[in-house]
Amino acid sequence: MGAKKRSFLVIFRKNMSMKTEEKSCIFCGHTKLYKASSTQYRCVTCKRTFSHAKQDKKRDIIASFIANHSAHECAKRLGLNYLTVTKTYQKLRLLLISHSEALYTEQTDTFSQYDEYYFLPTCKRGKPTYLFDAIGILGMLYDKRIHTLLLPDQFAHLKNLEEDSIEKETYARYLNQHKVAHYESFDNALVDFWYFLEGWMDHFKGIKKENFIYYLKEAEFKFNYNEEEQRLILEKMIREK
Ligand SMILES: [Zn+2]
Repeated sequence: MGAKKRSFLVIFRKNMSMKTEEKSCIFCGHTKLYKASSTQYRCVTCKRTFSHAKQDKKRDIIASFIANHSAHECAKRLGLNYLTVTKTYQKLRLLLISHSEALYTEQTDTFSQYDEYYFLPTCKRGKPTYLFDAIGILGMLYDKRIHTLLLPDQFAHLKNLEEDSIEKETYARYLNQHKVAHYESFDNALVDFWYFLEGWMDHFKGIKKENFIYYLKEAEFKFNYNEEEQRLILEKMIREK
């Protein structure tokens, strides 16, 4: 008896979820859909094929991405494969780079200020030896949004110089002074962003320099938009990808 009751419940639930699945097209919102396979639907109006289950999974991963969960944490919370999450995270970061470029070209006429900044992880800050690992960033303010560009590594040639060489010392002094001046003379969204960037980068355990651009663009995006705006933009981008 008990077993029968349970299987009835399972079927009932399955039907319920199928009903919500059949609601609307994820692209155009129209409700005339037909099944293209056991998991996929095709929209009669826009002719696109999609899977609600896949879409739900992506939506969950995006929510984790916005909440700053690591790929490992996200996989654990959602019961997903770690590689699936890592791949989606990478895709999101790539999409954010193109999003940022598109905005940059759109907004040139609202440009108001710029500021140069040298980023060092907390563990390396205040130690002259590491000054030359600093990553130069140009921050620009467009209306209320920030756009960043990575500056060419102008200290690369100094890294191999001996510790007490005059050039190295001079540059170290220059960089130190530059940082102080930077904090004392500005009070605007750009300075807020540098603080945000430092705090935000701290939650990653070590970032490879070659990957820095992805994290910078993610920080830029998270600084520029509130969580609801982030969700809408990311879901739209990944849907159209
Ligand atoms: Zn459609």
